[in-house]
Parts: sequence; structure tokens; C-alpha cells
Amino acid sequence: MDGEITSPMDEVVNDMSAGHVPETRVLIIMTGGTICMQKSSDGLVPARNFLERCMAPRPEFNDGHNHDPIEVGLHDGPNGVGRLQSLRTPTSVYGKRVRYAVLEFEELLDSSSIDSRGWTQIAQTIQRNYKLFDGFVVLHGTDSLAYTCSALSFMLQHLGKPVILTGSQVPFAERKNDALDNLMDAVDVAAHFMIPEVCLCFNSTLFRGNRSTKISASAFDAFASPNLPPLARITAVDTTVAWNMVTRPTTLQAFSIQTDLEIHHVACLRIFPGITAKMVDAVLRTENLRGLVLETFGAGNAPSGHDNELFKVIADAVQRGIVIVNITQCLTGSVNPLYAPGMVLGRAGVVAGGDMTSEAALTKLSYLLALPGATPESVARDMAISIRGELTENSGIIFSHPTGELSSPVTQLTAIAYGIASGDIDRVKDVLRNDSQLMNRPDYSGNTPVHLAATGSSLAILRYLLGLGASVHIRNNASRTPLFLAANAGLIPHVMLLRQAGAHLHQEELPTASLHASQRPEAWKQAGLEVGHDDKTR
Ligand code: ASP
Repeated sequence: MDGEITSPMDEVVNDMSAGHVPETRVLIIMTGGTICMQKSSDGLVPARNFLERCMAPRPEFNDGHNHDPIEVGLHDGPNGVGRLQSLRTPTSVYGKRVRYAVLEFEELLDSSSIDSRGWTQIAQTIQRNYKLFDGFVVLHGTDSLAYTCSALSFMLQHLGKPVILTGSQVPFAERKNDALDNLMDAVDVAAHFMIPEVCLCFNSTLFRGNRSTKISASAFDAFASPNLPPLARITAVDTTVAWNMVTRPTTLQAFSIQTDLEIHHVACLRIFPGITAKMVDAVLRTENLRGLVLETFGAGNAPSGHDNELFKVIADAVQRGIVIVNITQCLTGSVNPLYAPGMVLGRAGVVAGGDMTSEAALTKLSYLLALPGATPESVARDMAISIRGELTENSGIIFSHPTGELSSPVTQLTAIAYGIASGDIDRVKDVLRNDSQLMNRPDYSGNTPVHLAATGSSLAILRYLLGLGASVHIRNNASRTPLFLAANAGLIPHVMLLRQAGAHLHQEELPTASLHASQRPEAWKQAGLEVGHDDKTR
């Protein structure tokens, strides 16, 4: 009987005998941009019905079956969930099918007009659909794409699922385009790789979103990430992810969003030879200005001006509570108090922004200023440190080892499994110290160390794994999350810890969970199942 299943392996065996191909759900959020545009007498304009027009006719995106519409969060409130037409891809090389729907914004934008309202709309859409989908693709114009990537990276707090943004230089509807490849790559990454970051996927490359910048108005390789290598490269053969660079939330907190960035109260000013203190002062006296990103020369230098006038103007603004951040105009490298002019800026209270892009600095400043209880001091403090991998902090020691020195991942996973089974946290720590990427690595049955710890005897091991940033959303070969296994085993403390870290039951698990609910009602209730109310966990 279903309710008697307590070990992850029993589930896998049951499921494999059913010949099940796992389905991953991806929500595609269409905000506009060239990718969806069509020619008109006024030039290119955004056009609707992207799913029917562009995706349904392509076999890469459509397995040819009729699929039921799927649940999509459309508005807030109890009646906010509706159903949208869905399609499914053929089985991928990773042995999964991707079920997806396209949610189009009421007003499709040319991205040059996006601002904090549009970012709030995207963040809220992701929040409403967080429990319904495994990953998200946001389609967006390229002009302000790097700004949106940066803004979302800050607004989506404790993110545990992939959010992949893309667009194209040429519309999907044109014969020779980059839209098809960019979209396919973005959907594949969102569906198959547990990269819980806001990323930009463009021209076969996956960038950390808040490190990216647009470098070409016409080339297909329109984006770069000058101060950080790509997170993944996609070739005809495979997708190679630099897992050691992927950042993960290490706080045990559930996903949340911060909306309404203070983008209208910050500014960006590029220093140039001949700039006067008066010009800078005029910007700094803009009504209600709360922050300024100063793009300076080289390693952070600005002209001192006659009689140090410029520095006086800047120091005075800092005294008035305006947060001023120093970033470099150079494409690569970092602000650094090497030279006297840069040091003087620092003494005036200007924050060194390290190697942040302008897009990241501006949106981070707007985000920090919007946080409840923000003060100029708290904002200045956080601007100088990495909160989402947006700047390089040099203090950390990077541990690496030459390949070949360690035993195979299979041997190491076995050692972790043994440590979990015997409640030996030191053993688990020892193995993960050598290679922390193992924390998300599935074994032959698709179980990650978190799956094993979810039904293990030691809550401390589970807490340790979650504190390292191990994902609570990966599903095993039987499509089960660690939360499902813990609830099914009736382990309430494990369930509560997983919930604290943002775990939720997957849509596909709800019918089975409801069947099991009568046996361990408290555990299922803690897992978020509305016991006695069928399958509503939202
Ligand atoms: N102007 C367009 C936009 O940003 C350009 C693009 O989509 O590439 O929406």
C-alpha cells in the first residue's frame, strides 16, 4: 500500500516499473521585446499569442499531443489561479519532458520602457507561480535586459529555483533568427539544471544575471559578463555548468520578494575629463535623490577639481544622507584605493563598488534603499559586500584541488550516504569539505544527500546540508521531493526544517500526498498539505 512506503528506494522501484518519463514544469513569462515582435507599417511591434504562433508549430517545443491546460497563478487572492494552454516537449537528452505554458503580460513592452513597475510585475508573477513550476523563463527585450536581470537577482530573495532570462536580436518570426536557439537553451536550463539564480541565457552562454551587460546592438553574442566567467556553456554535444560558481541561498528561509525598488530616487553619473563640481552638485541636489552611482576612471579615480571643489560637493552630499557608490568605467577590473584621487573619494564617504557593473550597482542601490528599515549606513555597508554574487570579494579563500586526487563521486556519495545512515555528521562534513557540489548530486536512483537526510536519523545532518545551500527542490527518479519523503515517513521535525528552508510539495506529488494524508495527518499538514481539502497546498 502507498502509505507504507518509507524509503526513497521503494518509491523509485514502484515508479520505474510504471515506465514513467518525468515531467518538469516551466513557466514562460512573456514581457515583450524583439523576440515576439512582428513587422508593421510602424516598424517592429510586439505581437501576442507567442505559444500558438511560434512554439506550437515547432517539433522541438511540441510533442504533438493534446495536453490539458495547466494551473497558472494569474492574480493574487483566492481566485487568482487559472488555467492556461500548455504544450510539452519531446523527451530531452536528460530523460525529461518539459511541460510549459506562456503567460503574456497584458501590455507587451519594448524593454527600453521598463522600470520598477515592470520588475515588480515579473517578481510577483514568479511568486504566484513558485510552487506550481520547477523553473521560470522570462522573455524580454535586450535593451534593458541586463538591468532587469540585475534587479530581479536582488528582488527574488532566498531563490531556490532557476529563473532564466533571454530575448533575441532578431524576432522568432523571421527566417534567420537567434530567437529559436536562445529560447530552447533557456527552457532547457530552467527545466534540467538546479541553478537557483537569476541568469541570462544568450548565444549558447549562461551568465549570472547581475554580472551581465549588453555589449552589442547587432551581434548575436550581444552580452558579456566581463568580471565573471559564464556559469555554463552550451554546445551541440552538451551543457557544461561551472557548478563551483553557482551561488545558493544558505539561509534557512523560504522564497520571498521585495518589490517597488527605489529606482526613481537613484541616478548614475559618468565622470569625464572637464566635468565640473557644479554639474555634479546639480545631480546631487535632484529632489528626493537617495543614491548615486559614480562611474569613475580606472581603479576609481575622479578629477579633484579646482580647490578640491568636487570632493567637497561629494562629501557634503554624503553628509546629507545620499549614498554614493564608486564603480569603474572600465569593462573589466575593480575600484580599488590605489591612487590618491580614489582614496580621497573613499575618505569623503563614497562606497567602493568593487567590480560591479553599472546595471548591478544601480539596481542594488535601489533594492537596498527599498528594504524596510533601510538607513544610509545599512545601504552603504551592504553595497560594499556581495549579497547575490554581484561583486568579487577577495577575502575568501577558494579551496580547489587538482582533479584525479579524490575518489570518484560515486564512492564519495556512498560515503555520504553511509554517514547519513549512521548519523555520523563528521563523516558527511569530511566528504563535502573536499567537494561541496556533491550536496546536490543524485545517486543512481536520483536521491540527493538531502533526500537521504530527509528520512535519516540525524536532524543535524539535514540542517548542515541545508546550511550549505543544498537544494530542497530536486526530485528523485520517482519524482519525489525530500519533503514528500520526510512527511511520508512521519518525521515532523524534518518536515518543519525543510519547510523553513523553503521546501514545498510538488504539484505532481499532491494527489499521492492526499492519499497518504490520513495515515500521518500531522506530518502532511506540516508539509503544507491541506489535509481533508484534497490537493490545495498554495
Ligand atoms: N528594443 C527591443 C527591446 O529592448 C530590443 C530587443 O528586444 O532586443 O525590447
